[in-house]
Amino acid sequence: MQVGFIGLGHMGQHMARHVAEAGFDLAAYDLQADAIAQLVQTPRARRASSVAEAASSAEIVFTSLPGPPEVESVVGGPDGLLESMQPGSVYVDLSSNSPATVRKLSAAFAERGISMLDAPVAGGVTGAEAGTLSVMVGGNQATFERVRPVLSAIGTKLFYCGPSGNGAIVKLCNNLSSQAQIAAAGEILSLGVKAGVDLDILAKAIGASTGTCRAIVDIFPKQLFRRKFEEPGFSSILSAKDTHLAIELAHKLGVPMPIGEIVERDKQEALRRGWGPLSPDVFVRLQEERAGVVLETAKEPA
Ligand code: NAD
Repeated sequence: MQVGFIGLGHMGQHMARHVAEAGFDLAAYDLQADAIAQLVQTPRARRASSVAEAASSAEIVFTSLPGPPEVESVVGGPDGLLESMQPGSVYVDLSSNSPATVRKLSAAFAERGISMLDAPVAGGVTGAEAGTLSVMVGGNQATFERVRPVLSAIGTKLFYCGPSGNGAIVKLCNNLSSQAQIAAAGEILSLGVKAGVDLDILAKAIGASTGTCRAIVDIFPKQLFRRKFEEPGFSSILSAKDTHLAIELAHKLGVPMPIGEIVERDKQEALRRGWGPLSPDVFVRLQEERAGVVLETAKEPA
């Protein structure tokens, strides 16, 4: 089966490699020549010189792009996916996208006889590298079953979430959950430290008790506690994009999100401060400033 893959960044590079390694013939394209060069070292992966070349003979085309504007630009235009994909083929967007954008594009593809799935992923670069991602799929269920063998190459946890846009919704809810936990954990730890408890003891005790969350046991020990925000697999820019899309959805539906609004405010402030390329938990530094503490430990993560 011929597969096209567009977007070979932190996530796409690994996902495309797994698809080729699973035995599918893959034509890959990215704006960055280096990213293509790295991928085509994998047997069965070949270079495409444009979106159209990656897509025109493919039965399934994947995109893994930063967000809605990039997806819309790859889909539209004279050389875009809408023009170049064959009727009967399937377009799978692995990007974390806006549900409204996904639904609009899905309708446009349907008019051309092409089925579209929104299939954003979770599990980070580590999960992408290991091929163990969660994949949250929206769209036609029979189409999902048709592409399941390829999706199984990139993820071990496949979730059919309902009609078009539902995969995107589940992903935005997942990411807001993760960022809200980071905000809450940063706030709580700043209280304990300000009150005089050693950060290592505080984090260790809470991490092993009912107040635990992934931020405390996994993310902070590797990043925040070590002031190690550089060269992240997932940037604050992309994370702030996801938070913003979740809040935008809530506004549209009239769902009050007091906790989400606080996360949105701090993530936007982090971008204004130029922290966009840093890891998503960097926004806890705003709480550190407000509380007058630094959540830093010299100890190696366990
Ligand atoms: P990235 O910025 O590392 O990669 C994006 C790639 O898309 C880049 O290589 C870029 O050159 C390419 N690109 C951009 N515009 C293009 C165009 N017009 N044509 C061809 N290529 C183009 O991003 P990433 O971290 O790999 O994330 C990709 C998607 O997955 C995002 O939607 C992100 O929110 C989501 N995601 C990321 C992670 C993570 O941990 N990094 C985890 C889950 C989901």
